[in-house]
Amino acid sequence: MLGRPNELTLVEKPVPQPRAAEVLVRIGATAVCATDLEVISHGQPALVQGGLPFERNFTPGHEYMGTVVKLGPGVDEFAVGDRVAVEVHAGCGRCERCREGMYTACTNYGLNYGHHDKGHRANGFTTDGGFAEYAINHINTLVRVPADMSDEEATLIVTAGTAIYGLDVLGGLIAGQTVVVTGPGPIGLMAVGVAKALGASPVILVGTRQDARRLEIGRQLGADALVCVDDEDAVQAVHRITGGKGAHYVMECSGAPNAVNQAARMLSRGGRICLAAFAKEPVLVDLAYVVSNNIYLFGIRGEGKSATRRAASLLAQKRFAAKLIHTHTFAFDQVPSALRQARERIDDAIKVVVKM
Ligand SMILES: [Zn+2]
Ligand SMILES: [Zn+2]
Repeated sequence: MLGRPNELTLVEKPVPQPRAAEVLVRIGATAVCATDLEVISHGQPALVQGGLPFERNFTPGHEYMGTVVKLGPGVDEFAVGDRVAVEVHAGCGRCERCREGMYTACTNYGLNYGHHDKGHRANGFTTDGGFAEYAINHINTLVRVPADMSDEEATLIVTAGTAIYGLDVLGGLIAGQTVVVTGPGPIGLMAVGVAKALGASPVILVGTRQDARRLEIGRQLGADALVCVDDEDAVQAVHRITGGKGAHYVMECSGAPNAVNQAARMLSRGGRICLAAFAKEPVLVDLAYVVSNNIYLFGIRGEGKSATRRAASLLAQKRFAAKLIHTHTFAFDQVPSALRQARERIDDAIKVVVKM
């Protein structure tokens, strides 16, 4: 349970009970995400009972998998014993965005309490999450996990889902096109794997010298070219690799202050940028360059339009080895150590997983 900022304590809570269209999941493993660290330290983007998540009996964690152990009334889409991974956002199902499949941008975000109960769920953000033994999930947020996939790898399905959603909003015409991924964090590395699996060529991954291990994993996930910004100007490198043409797409996963300006200059005219990272501060963008070159900018949050289902399919087909980004495992009573491992990138940590 999250108390004051950065204060997590192990407490006993009643096992929650599934309602209509919900199941109870016994959690097998939960991955630590950079956004968990944000929530635990600063609160946002979590929103619990209309406010910051501190001292509200709230359990964080949103990238988890487990086993269905109880069905809500009328549920026949899943059976007790099914292994499942989850997507984070259930959405309210009744607002304009949810009806369009954009439930990660639900306009009733956080409205799930008292007189404001619209049924919205985003586990680990607006409802209890995965650093627990049990969690309630809406059936729409569940995907089946193949028997030969480990618990740890299954926690990465939702991360790959975010990468797929990013490529979706860029227009989805990926085969034979140049995709640059800036920032080799978990989403960036999954974007490399997904782009390659969908036929992008070449796939170019950009990182820093500190990211050396991540860049190498990016190569194993399918990157055709690696660019280290400490050794070479990233814009010049992309133009060199593309024979001066520039890229069709940039997936911006770094959140670096100048990332949008750099991404715009990596593109050919008319290219598209997907913003998948949170910049820490407001940034200045050269909009005249963006407009005069007909550059499109898209922002995504999370994993809308059932992208997680497609991610699960790609991983089940073994189109890329998502498990390469899982680097460390901790036991449930070591959640604070797991968070520290991820926050401080100890021993080059990429994905840290807490296993029940
Ligand atoms: Zn996450
Ligand atoms: Zn909604």
